[in-house]
Amino acid sequence: MDFRVTEIYGSNVFNDAAMRERLPKTTYKSLKKTIDEGLALDVTVADVVANAMKDWAMEKGATHFTHWFQPMTGITAEKHDSFISPTDDGRVIMEFTGKDLVKGEPDASSFPSGGLRATFEARGYTAWDCTSPAFVKDGTLYIPTAFCSYTGEVLDKKTPLLRSMEALNKQALRILKLFGNTTATRVTTTVGPEQEYFLIDRDLYKKRKDLIFTGRTLFGNRPPKGQELEDHYFGNIKERVSNYMKDLDKELWELGIAAKTKHNEVAPAQHELAPIFTTSNIATDHNQLTMELMQKIALRHNLVCLLHEKPFAGVNGSGKHNNWSMSTNDGQNLLEPGSTPHENVQFLVFLCAVIKAVDDYQDLMRLSVASAGNDHRLGANEAPPAIVSMFLGDQLTDILTQLENGKAKGKAYNSILETGVASLPKLPKDTTDRNRTSPFAFTGNKFEFRMLGSSASISGPNFVLNTIVAEVLQKFADTLEGQSDLSSAVTDLISETIKEHKRIIFNGNNYTDEWVAEAESRGLLNLKSTVECIPTFIKDKNVAVFVKHGVLSNSEIESRYEILLENYVKTINIEALTMISMAKTELLPAAFKFSKDLSDTINSVKATGMSVEVSAQSSVLKELSPVLSSFSSNINSLKKAIEKASAEDTSALKQAEAFSKIVVPAMESLRADADKLEAIIPKDLYPFPCYADLLFNI
Ligand code: ADP
Ligand code: MG
Repeated sequence: MDFRVTEIYGSNVFNDAAMRERLPKTTYKSLKKTIDEGLALDVTVADVVANAMKDWAMEKGATHFTHWFQPMTGITAEKHDSFISPTDDGRVIMEFTGKDLVKGEPDASSFPSGGLRATFEARGYTAWDCTSPAFVKDGTLYIPTAFCSYTGEVLDKKTPLLRSMEALNKQALRILKLFGNTTATRVTTTVGPEQEYFLIDRDLYKKRKDLIFTGRTLFGNRPPKGQELEDHYFGNIKERVSNYMKDLDKELWELGIAAKTKHNEVAPAQHELAPIFTTSNIATDHNQLTMELMQKIALRHNLVCLLHEKPFAGVNGSGKHNNWSMSTNDGQNLLEPGSTPHENVQFLVFLCAVIKAVDDYQDLMRLSVASAGNDHRLGANEAPPAIVSMFLGDQLTDILTQLENGKAKGKAYNSILETGVASLPKLPKDTTDRNRTSPFAFTGNKFEFRMLGSSASISGPNFVLNTIVAEVLQKFADTLEGQSDLSSAVTDLISETIKEHKRIIFNGNNYTDEWVAEAESRGLLNLKSTVECIPTFIKDKNVAVFVKHGVLSNSEIESRYEILLENYVKTINIEALTMISMAKTELLPAAFKFSKDLSDTINSVKATGMSVEVSAQSSVLKELSPVLSSFSSNINSLKKAIEKASAEDTSALKQAEAFSKIVVPAMESLRADADKLEAIIPKDLYPFPCYADLLFNI
């Protein structure tokens, strides 16, 4: 390593240290108040901050600035402006004003708006989000911003998240006050997202249109060896991958992203990166940057980083584990049970709030992770099922069961792990084993939401989580405030909550069929696909919760609902068209060629009249012919399916349903034939790199 981590860490970020060093004391203090306490920004500080930021950025080699935002595409957007400002004598000075910092006006017409903004009303605004620090990347000063339309409706992923954090802060503080806390003035939600990804060779990638256009393979048989030997997970990291990871770590650290853990994942060619958690807003920005850098740095190593939820059939897909908690600015993690959780009433109230929230809003939780890509994972015995439930572990479940009927007694749960080898240290045992199958697991002092797909922004799941927990905290605070006997009111509240919502707690194996049946008898939702999830967004209770807490307005919900449906249709349509193109122009000719080779051989041998054995060729031809004709007719069926689904245009929902019910099955049939062909035709005729090449090449 040719650098010191402590020196480069955050070196490209206009972080607290840089601000303290470069801003006048009063400006620094005023800005800090906005950042830490969520107070309104004092506009007079903007000019001073802008100037200091520009000087700092120019020292880092920046010539441009950009308002960096997160439109509904799920990726980030940026437009670069240089600092130059011409002077009368034909030269330039470098200028960056408070106005430049605070507000931008990108043309909004080319971003998804779900009908919110007719294209002729192209005006959009970006507004500086000073709670996420600016940074320098590739000679440009990046300013994190929120993005809204001319009419003020938000068109991005950041604003609802910030609003939801605000809502949760407000309600959580009310609860803390009840328990006598006089020092906390702010509660923030924290997130640590574990990011999974695949790395494949770039030369091979270029030979597959499906990877290029859709991010996943639309054809391909599982190789003879997949992940069954379980030899990849935590296995030693190959040199090429390790070099990539080192480069990635370095750039992430320079951007103040606390990349902490890296390892091989379950599937061949699959890996994971986990950062140290931070506030939800910054974690979301950081995760977007992490995904971007993962892809960019891969190219430098002649690799391609695949972030799709299911790049390969037959081996695990990629997810993102969203570790979530709430903490106060006086240093408490509100989900920390402590050593005597049964007596930790404040913890129990927050825990019960999460339990009730997840049960009441299972549909929103499920919706927040729904996408065409994630449909391949959820419920496929590699990721949690589509059913939302919670894992609490033995100790907490035991305590809650007791509390349901009154008071809980503490039991000694912590014990020492005996390895039977005297020289090994004695390890204190965790109070509960892990449950890797649960969609939403309590893991000691936080919840791990495991249903997220690898490619999606983490904004959605987090603003949903924050909003629904804020809603329940508000209900709890309304009930408890003003009670003369707080202690018995809390006891009643906890016991009632457990009675009403214990159905959502499940500590067993979520991958079994028994659970699916049991969940149904408990009345839990099982929304199997994206198209089934989306309509829940506009159910009255769900609209009400977003509107009440100021997270999304009616029209913002309406537009997001449209965008989700449109995205689904567009994704499936692109996949289907890519399939047809590959099938017709690459696979079909290869199969014809092989078929011709076989019949030529058979015919020429027959023509000689010699009794040479051609039964081998004949039997392969016999195997090939029916598959080939089925494949060819399935290409046409898929074409017709697309036409039929496209014609269902009375509503976005109808069309999405048609794509899901007609096009998706037609794609599956075509793939089945294509994969049979792969097993018959010679490898040198098969037109693209196969799974074995892609997964075991690095
Ligand atoms: P595992 O793979 O066992 O789930 P990791 O160590 O890979 O665990 O990831 C745990 C993640 O949880 C890390 O990103 C970590 O920063 C995050 N985390 C830990 N404590 C909190 C917390 N209080 N709030 C949010 N995230 C947290
Ligand atoms: Mg995890």
